[in-house]
Amino acid sequence: MPQPYLAKPAAAIAVLQKYGLHTQKKYGQNFLIDAHIPEKITEAAEVGSEDCCIEIGPGIGTLTQYLAEKAGCVIAIEVDKGLLPVLSETLEGYGNTTVISADVLKVDMRELISRYAEGRQVKVVANLPYYITTPILMSMLEAGLPAVSYTLMVQKEVADRMQAGPGSKDYGALSLAVQYHTEPEIVMQVPPGCFLPQPKVGSTVIRLKTRDGLLPEEERKALFKVIRAAFGQRRKTLYNSLRNAPEIGVDKERIAQALESCGLRADVRGEALSLEQFMELAEKLYS
Ligand code: SAM
Repeated sequence: MPQPYLAKPAAAIAVLQKYGLHTQKKYGQNFLIDAHIPEKITEAAEVGSEDCCIEIGPGIGTLTQYLAEKAGCVIAIEVDKGLLPVLSETLEGYGNTTVISADVLKVDMRELISRYAEGRQVKVVANLPYYITTPILMSMLEAGLPAVSYTLMVQKEVADRMQAGPGSKDYGALSLAVQYHTEPEIVMQVPPGCFLPQPKVGSTVIRLKTRDGLLPEEERKALFKVIRAAFGQRRKTLYNSLRNAPEIGVDKERIAQALESCGLRADVRGEALSLEQFMELAEKLYS
């Protein structure tokens, strides 16, 4: 098998120059140029031959090479078509890796998994494009993908939001989606100097281990409908947020009753409720 060689400034610059490419800000391209980081990510994800890794945004293939060395198979989804010839070269020799040319928000991940994973356990591993981290993560979690873990490089502030609790300004739908579906654990902080070009923000690698025993799909959907409505109008009371959200589909008397039977004051705001309180409220609203 070939050896990973791209996680160095000179190697990344050389491959971009060879293909006449520049990093594209519109796609959130900040490529890793410090070998320690992809090594640590692969180690934290505990990638082994029994795993199928899904990588979102392989870029020039830097992290992909490390994953391909260890995993049974890798599915790498890249939106920037300009990078496809680069990936053909940098991933040549890694027969276990498939590059999918697509926007991750539009691709059917379940279909990719059933086509390529061959029954292996699925791990999502990625240095995510920061401009769409939240929609990518929310859609994967809410779709209930059969992934055992998500090991992700994200903007530091987003990692803080994932771990925030009630009452904090960082607390919101992302915190609840992450904490409901997974157990989050910080792996490491990564300074801007580890990327080309350097991002203006700090970065964090976070590992989200998927929890067992999630609610059935219908109940999960109802729970996140309530959570999204609660944070959709953050400054309003929870009662008003639920009342004004068309997708809630419950009349105002029932909303008031549900809040009362959960022991919640009429003027409470969504940001004060714990995950357990949201679960109880969703149950009362829809049971
Ligand atoms: N994995 C590489 C690395 O670590 O050096 C690149 C990471 S870079 C932060 C993010 C990558 O995601 C870029 O290659 C970018 O083109 C890709 N990307 C951005 N938006 C995307 C989307 N909607 N779907 C798939 N890939 C996307």
